[in-house]
Amino acid sequence: MAFLGGEALTGCDREHQGRAYLQFVEQLTPEPQIIETFAQSHEQTKIYAWIGASIDAINHPLQMALAACQQCFPAGECPEVAVYAAPFKDSLGFDGLCNLWTHPFTLLVDVGRVVPEDWLKLIVHEYAHAHLGHPGHSQDYGAVLAHLCLGLGFRPPPSSLDSLHHWPNYRRTDDITALWRGIAGYPSRPTLRFWP
Ligand SMILES: [Zn+2]
Repeated sequence: MAFLGGEALTGCDREHQGRAYLQFVEQLTPEPQIIETFAQSHEQTKIYAWIGASIDAINHPLQMALAACQQCFPAGECPEVAVYAAPFKDSLGFDGLCNLWTHPFTLLVDVGRVVPEDWLKLIVHEYAHAHLGHPGHSQDYGAVLAHLCLGLGFRPPPSSLDSLHHWPNYRRTDDITALWRGIAGYPSRPTLRFWP
């Protein structure tokens, strides 16, 4: 029974950690009401516990993806950028954002909406904004994006500026909350912690 008690405590700690993480990423958004807090879900406790237990394993490949983007440019040319996974509200029409008002710049990506094999593509799109220091999809943005695509083995964007909004094309998941509810089968494994 003592062992079971210990297990329960661990679950509480994880739930607390998950809640603290969502508060942490909330502070990094350019405007409020972007982060999904699952307040209406009967699974909120379970979701927070899953985030507390798994978020470092989720953030690890995102850090690797960011590093891969920065390696496409000469050292010293890259701005300081941080990246974090975060669940976005369902009603929002975007999968990632680049906040240029924080230092370092912050990329927030809702990895629940994108298949894991394409997380790098989502990071590439957002990193190009950070590298340019500009949120728009201008010709200059297209040039940075094309450089990243060539360096990372993705098809460069077509010449029309309209296509830049969704480049590189990535595949979406069928169920955007499955990852956060811990039922997407994403392995939880011990890894480094990337947030304070
Ligand atoms: Zn964009």
